[in-house]
Amino acid sequence: MEKAFEKQLEQLRSRSLFRSLKEITTPQGLAVTAENRELLNFSSNDYLGLANDPLLRQAAKAAIDTFGVGSGASRLVCGTLSPHLRLEEKLAHFKRTEAALCFSSGYAAALGAMGALVGPKDVVIMDKLAHACLIDGARLSGATVRIFPHNHTGKLESHLQWARTHHPKARVLVVTESVFSMDGDCAPLAEIVRLKKTYDALLLLDEAHALGVLGNQGRGLADALGLAHEIDVQMGTLSKALGTSGGYICGSRSLIDLLINSARSFIFSTAPTPATAAAAEAALNFLLSPQGDQRLQTLWANLHVFAVMLGRTTAFESAIVPIILGEEQTALNASKELHRRGFMVPAIRYPTVAKKQARLRITLSALHAHNDIALLCEALGEFL
Ligand SMILES: *Cc1c(COP(=O)(O)O)cnc(C)c1O
Repeated sequence: MEKAFEKQLEQLRSRSLFRSLKEITTPQGLAVTAENRELLNFSSNDYLGLANDPLLRQAAKAAIDTFGVGSGASRLVCGTLSPHLRLEEKLAHFKRTEAALCFSSGYAAALGAMGALVGPKDVVIMDKLAHACLIDGARLSGATVRIFPHNHTGKLESHLQWARTHHPKARVLVVTESVFSMDGDCAPLAEIVRLKKTYDALLLLDEAHALGVLGNQGRGLADALGLAHEIDVQMGTLSKALGTSGGYICGSRSLIDLLINSARSFIFSTAPTPATAAAAEAALNFLLSPQGDQRLQTLWANLHVFAVMLGRTTAFESAIVPIILGEEQTALNASKELHRRGFMVPAIRYPTVAKKQARLRITLSALHAHNDIALLCEALGEFL
């Protein structure tokens, strides 16, 4: 067996697709230390610098002192502790929905929600660039899956017409992201909402990279466009701009009750720890405070500065800036060269993105100073 494993690994190496783990010996932040080298971090999804914020650390410590470390069981058995319910109340209030439900990760939220909402008689229609957890959720549900080219609403409409003609009784679930995780662009949400209403479909929107980045107080893209009340299933994660971990679904009371009763990744998994739930609640409180507003403005000021320094004529749509280089090895070499110069910028390769679409994925944080961004631009020079 070992030989067979080695052979598979060798194939990955020969295609520049082998990956390995790197130890970071410091907390997440502006600079991190890896292999005894301090690197300026342009690769984290901790857009607001909350992962190591004293407010969140304090909330987590207080929850440990009151509730201990483990939650002991799944939520339906005896694992629903006060911090879980307080977080869910706060999330529903923040997203202005009737109810909310937390999962141990965004990945688990997608799998659980999609499996609960659609089955083999139903249809899922999703964007080609949707995140792996949405693809896996669609597959696992057993529904018929139709993919439309990235942000192509014309093709989405023809899939909807097809579904209504060939599966008249089916539940039809449209799935997209608000900010695409490897491209940083936004979905044409107004048109998608119009179509899902015309064809009487449900819409699941994954706001993983929009929460804490877009919309009033960081509520997300749907909020920014005044469309939040039109989204049936608002999904996201607490692990990116919110700096903690865990996934969530926000929506109507009946949607959440249905998930509590049938989302397998919710039912058959131990509840998130009370410390992470309490830290996530603290992150939401921060977003709702004047300091939160300030932090969001700092992030967008950084994005503006970066766009100007790169000579872009249009503003970035999110905190994710891809620099597409094509060949896997080209992206790897670029990432290595940036590492040599003291920057952490990952090369993103197949299967995270399509073959020959390898790229540097740069993420900005509110913690970066304008000078850090200038230094990065200088180092990037030769790859642009
Ligand atoms: C990261 C991510 C997820 C998964 O969230 P986790 O909490 O990390 O499991 C889901 N969707 C998108 C678009 C993501 O980028």
